[in-house]
Amino acid sequence: MAKIAIGAGHGMHTSGKRSPEGEREWSFNNKVVSAAINYLNGYANATVIRMDDPTGETDVSLTTRTNAANNANADILISYHHNANTGQWGAWTGTETYYYPGSSTGLALARAIHPSIVGAMGLRDRGIKSANFHMVRESRMPAILIEGGFMDSTIDIVKMRNNSVMDQTGKALANAIAAHLGLQSGGGRNTYTVKAGDTLWGIAQAHNMTVSELKRLNNLSDDTIYPGQVLIVSGTSTNFSKKSTGYVEVLASSLWVYDAPDWDAKYEVVNQGEVFTVKKELEVKGSKMYQLKSGLYITGNSSYIRYFTK
Ligand SMILES: [Zn+2]
Repeated sequence: MAKIAIGAGHGMHTSGKRSPEGEREWSFNNKVVSAAINYLNGYANATVIRMDDPTGETDVSLTTRTNAANNANADILISYHHNANTGQWGAWTGTETYYYPGSSTGLALARAIHPSIVGAMGLRDRGIKSANFHMVRESRMPAILIEGGFMDSTIDIVKMRNNSVMDQTGKALANAIAAHLGLQSGGGRNTYTVKAGDTLWGIAQAHNMTVSELKRLNNLSDDTIYPGQVLIVSGTSTNFSKKSTGYVEVLASSLWVYDAPDWDAKYEVVNQGEVFTVKKELEVKGSKMYQLKSGLYITGNSSYIRYFTK
């Protein structure tokens, strides 16, 4: 199992970070990252940890991003951006990739990825550079930050506004990652069908995951599995949160609440018909969770709860 931490820089509403015509940097970054994830899902044994908010609503902090990658023990980290020079239209141009100064594994990753991005964008090769950026400094795995092109370049913006170029750049990124990590094609979302005698621990070991990762990816609330059950053993998990101002009503006859944003952190059981005020919506390893006003957490799965606003 290869774990790839990837994120589109910033959020939709981050101040600055716009082209001279007001287009958001995140939306360009997101096009490449979303395409890359789609293409990575075509490889076997790849798990993607998406570090930014896939809706763009929240600008997830840099620390939250590197914590997500570090906690997941990701094998590599890719932070995807588009550059700006003056904020006014100009003729500067090109693609560049950054790694942390002195990091030989970061440099190796940059060398493995950068030429593919240059090729797909079809812009000037500004080279591989080192810089003391948070994303490459605070990550414990080989990490790079890519600047695909300049948002304020009359040359580069033509490429960035072309969805086909953005998609092909995502594909080039995915294929370069796959070649670097030795991923095999023909995966799709990998699943495993439980056989008699299997244990969560054994299945996790066989797929190079921890039991808690396997449980989170499958939204399992306890260790019970049964023959014939289909478990997801690779895929995309995200780690972000956004403010919410609604309520949840418990539909299940009884339901766990948690004292941490962690499916293993069971705290107490609540009962059908109870209503709680929601403070935040989170996605924890691919499954929706709400933080309640009380500070406790509850599932966002609509099979068990009803979310409503007044
Ligand atoms: Zn940026």
